[in-house]
Amino acid sequence: MPESLEANLRHIRQAITRSAERAGRDPGEVVLVAVTKTLPVERIREAIGLGLTRLGENRVQEALPKIEEIGPADLDWHLIGHLQTNKVKFIEGRFRMVQSVDSVGLAEALDARLQTALDVLIEVNVAEEPQKTGGLPADLPALARSVNAAQHLRLRGLMTVAPMVADAEQVRPVFRGLRSLRDTTSQQLGMPLPVLSMGMTDDYPIAIEEGATMLRLGRALFGPR
Ligand SMILES: *Cc1c(COP(=O)(O)O)cnc(C)c1O
Repeated sequence: MPESLEANLRHIRQAITRSAERAGRDPGEVVLVAVTKTLPVERIREAIGLGLTRLGENRVQEALPKIEEIGPADLDWHLIGHLQTNKVKFIEGRFRMVQSVDSVGLAEALDARLQTALDVLIEVNVAEEPQKTGGLPADLPALARSVNAAQHLRLRGLMTVAPMVADAEQVRPVFRGLRSLRDTTSQQLGMPLPVLSMGMTDDYPIAIEEGATMLRLGRALFGPR
């Protein structure tokens, strides 16, 4: 029997509080994005009913009909997966944040298409895994300058997807690395970058200890996909 969404959420909130306290942080600094990819609209409505109003989808094509049906009002839809430049036209008016800006070309295409400001994160492939999306750490300074110079993009911070490992403790350096890249970038741009989007079902307690301000949780909330 899978646990109920409500029980899972209660468990997660307790785990967030424990990890934050262990790190001497305020648990209120950590926000939750409920990752609803592959889930039907009824399940998403159930999550919204429990107060989960930040929703993460990783594919534009999958998200569009859901946003159409549930609506963008009072909800923050986050795009967390790779965005192709030919899909940038679907972002405005639907997504509150794009967490996966990973190239100068994409930043420019998105900016050219937008009429109003959009919050974005730069996705960084901290572990430099060849098969993975996200900008490389070495390319971050130029990418951050480009995003920051874009008229309609509001750079809020960085995002990473940690490697899959058997023991979550092994990804701690990746989270620490993203935080350090955030600090450096913030200094280079001379502006705060408050958002560190890191931590998923298998590793979020460690991400919190390393400074995560935004968790993206799918299976921990909804059970196996
Ligand atoms: C699927 C996904 C998540 C959530 O993964 P879980 O392991 O189910 O918590 C988070 N971030 C991204 C980018 C994803 O694609």
